[in-house]
Amino acid sequence: MSYNILECMVCGFIYDEGKGLPKEGIPAGTRWEDVPENWECPDCGVGKSDFEMVAISRIAVAVNKQVIDSIKSEPAIAAVVEKPSVIEIDRSRKPVVIVGTGLAGYHLAREFRKHDQKTPLIMITSDDGRLYSKPMLSVAFAKGKQPDQLASATAADMADELQAEIRIFNKVTEIYSDRQLLRVDGEIIEYGKLVLATGAKFVESSISGDGINSIYNINDLLDYTRFRTAIVGKKKVLIIGAGLIGSEYANDLVQSGYSIEVVEPMSTVLGTLLPQQASLAVQENLEKSGVKYNFGTVVEKIDKTVKGIEATLTNGKVIEADIVLSAIGVRPDLKLANVANLKSNRGVLTDRSLQTSAENIYALGDCAEVDGNLLFYVSPLMESARVLGKVLSGQQAQVNYGVMPIMIKTTLCPVVVVPPPKDSDGEWLVKVDGCNVHARFITSEGKLLGFALTGDAVGEKDVLSSKTQHIMG
Ligand SMILES: Cc1cc2nc3c(=O)[nH]c(=O)nc-3n(C[C@H](O)[C@H](O)[C@H](O)COP(=O)(O)OP(=O)(O)OC[C@H]3O[C@@H](n4cnc5c(N)ncnc54)[C@H](O)[C@@H]3O)c2cc1C
Repeated sequence: MSYNILECMVCGFIYDEGKGLPKEGIPAGTRWEDVPENWECPDCGVGKSDFEMVAISRIAVAVNKQVIDSIKSEPAIAAVVEKPSVIEIDRSRKPVVIVGTGLAGYHLAREFRKHDQKTPLIMITSDDGRLYSKPMLSVAFAKGKQPDQLASATAADMADELQAEIRIFNKVTEIYSDRQLLRVDGEIIEYGKLVLATGAKFVESSISGDGINSIYNINDLLDYTRFRTAIVGKKKVLIIGAGLIGSEYANDLVQSGYSIEVVEPMSTVLGTLLPQQASLAVQENLEKSGVKYNFGTVVEKIDKTVKGIEATLTNGKVIEADIVLSAIGVRPDLKLANVANLKSNRGVLTDRSLQTSAENIYALGDCAEVDGNLLFYVSPLMESARVLGKVLSGQQAQVNYGVMPIMIKTTLCPVVVVPPPKDSDGEWLVKVDGCNVHARFITSEGKLLGFALTGDAVGEKDVLSSKTQHIMG
């Protein structure tokens, strides 16, 4: 008998059929297809029918009659999982080195170990190397999760699982691609193959004033821990930016009792992703819950006051707040790519095998522009990890991105969107029923290039996805 292990494409939550979710009334041994249709991912809240689960492995289970009998009566105890054989590392081989232990780095390491259990694996990260689901950062308040509860494994746990050497709080500063060497905090390391999984950096705001220390940016678990520590005892939060991250934080914080005011230079929320009617639906639902918006203006100056801070906007308005969260976007950090002379555009350029312009150097995740596609989401990095795991072990493989819907976790008004490719020729055809918006982006030849759904209309995701043009056609 074998059980599937499935992983939530949005937040990385693992569903193991062998273990089930007894606390949620799903007994051990429950097949994925038998999980109730109204089940929701306990971590990110996305429903079973609304998100993708991918089989990441099958675990062989040794069974005999006695065990089968006990599965019937006491399934949680019955499954006897065969432990994977002990990995024997061949130290004569040059290591695969992965820079970065975010979702891209760790997913890749797991995929690589499925195909190669002998080559030494070194992972280097400038943070603490804990495995956590980054998408959970913007829903953690409402879920009552403290920062430490968002981490599912320490770097030591991961080193053990992957039989890897994981160097935490270490920064790679130089890459000498001609000699296959890199510099980490003064030490030189040789690599056989090198992977950049270095993510993206938040865009810094150019705001003046003596209150700028009250501005927080959140791009990883450590940033989030700092923010959660600083917000204790505070009430009024100013959020800069009404894009995906700013809107998710507004949604999360307002439901957790904070008073939220948002400043956004565009005229609407999620303005780069959604047609206007869908943006309005999200805006109205967040406003109903108390979020206040200031559109068409930016924060110019933040000054300290006795009570907190005062933000002066370019339209002259002054907003009082206790703390500021900046969410004005992320962009790939090209520092390492530049020192290695790798070709880059907005991200590090790779082909569909994730190979950069240099031999034996690869890139994936938020730092990579894969065959012209720069996508800051989990689904593309998971597909990239599956492909690169094979490539690093000597197999031929290429990514072929299909349709990758983005689920925006504004739970007050859920959104699913497949943005049409930039500068596409076509128009939005929109149906509005209260806060339920159903919008399709259609070319003059009738091709569906993208869609946006809000409220109850998100249920149409699968039908529309099956008809939408693939990212890599
Ligand atoms: C709040 C929030 C909510 C999100 N929600 C969703 C969602 O709902 N759905 C979705 O699909 N996507 C979501 N995303 C995007 C998704 O989380 C990212 O696309 C993904 O986590 C990126 O993973 P990564 O491994 O490429 O980068 P990162 O997680 O940023 O990892 C980068 C790693 O590189 C290391 N590093 C960088 N430079 C160096 C160096 N020089 N030396 C050593 N180490 C280095 C860092 O320490 C880190 O370990 C969200 C993002 C945020 C911020």
